[in-house]
Amino acid sequence: AKEAGRNTVRVFNQLLGERMRERLEIENALRHALSNNELRLVFQPILGAGNKVTVSAEALLRWTHPVLGNISPDIIIPIAEETGLIIPIGIWILRQACSELCRWEQETGQVLKIAVNVSARQFEDAAFPEMVAQILHESGLAADRLELEITERLLIESTSDAAINIQKLHDQGIHFSLDDFGTGYSSLSLLSHAPVAILKIDKSFVDRLGNNHVDDAMVNSIIAIAQILGLCTIAEGVESQYQLERLQEMGVDFIQGYYFSRALSSDDFVKWLKQLS
Ligand code: C2E
Ligand code: CA
Ligand code: CA
Ligand code: CA
Repeated sequence: AKEAGRNTVRVFNQLLGERMRERLEIENALRHALSNNELRLVFQPILGAGNKVTVSAEALLRWTHPVLGNISPDIIIPIAEETGLIIPIGIWILRQACSELCRWEQETGQVLKIAVNVSARQFEDAAFPEMVAQILHESGLAADRLELEITERLLIESTSDAAINIQKLHDQGIHFSLDDFGTGYSSLSLLSHAPVAILKIDKSFVDRLGNNHVDDAMVNSIIAIAQILGLCTIAEGVESQYQLERLQEMGVDFIQGYYFSRALSSDDFVKWLKQLS
């Protein structure tokens, strides 16, 4: 038994060592990803729940490293936050997203919005609101074409610097959505004071639709609360006709998910817009 225990420890240490090496490798590679043009954005359509018209797209980060291959944003973003690389990468994401939005309008005549995920670290940067204003100015976009997706955690844990920056951006006319709603420390009083216009109902709630009356009531209540507070709702991760119909019945405003489309390259997104018009 003692021997087995020692072996377990050895294997564990080995794994830990590999993990750390892997993580260090990714960290070093990420430092060059931007200048090596390895990062790109893909865009997932967001449609009106009733009329199925595409009204916006969520920009999602993708990274293909020549040796390591595709690396998920769930791995990239935490490393980018810890290293501070999220600041230059975040600026690149915003600039890229806005410039693609302009191109879609030129090529299709359709006026959409773009939703961009922003992490807490970016709001702590005093230069962030000014940077966003500059990017909008460069691309000639009105502020209300941009939606910044933030999490409940960010709202609760935000330092006073971050809170000031959120307010500044809000004053500029930029809209905020509360991402993954229901998975964090949601508090109703927080929600009624937060400068958010949109609630994104997390995929985990959508997944449980039809399981039992409690799971259904959960989604129903989120939508009801949003309506009382005058917020729009987006259901994310919608994969089936059944889910779509239930959400329509419950009065959700917008739908995002594989049922309609995965995230698309900018060129494919233009094709998507042209096919549907
Ligand atoms: P998120 O903001 O909740 O983004 C939605 C995620 O769900 C995306 O994964 C999307 O591809 C996936 N998804 C959408 N519809 C469906 C569906 O019907 N079924 C399933 N199974 N999945 C669906 P992705 O692109 O891997 O992004 C993961 C997370 O990484 C995002 O979650 C977001 O928190 C973060 N992230 C992605 N891009 C960025 C970025 O540019 N900046 C920041 N700060 N975070 C990002
Ligand atoms: Ca999001
Ligand atoms: Ca989300
Ligand atoms: Ca999510």
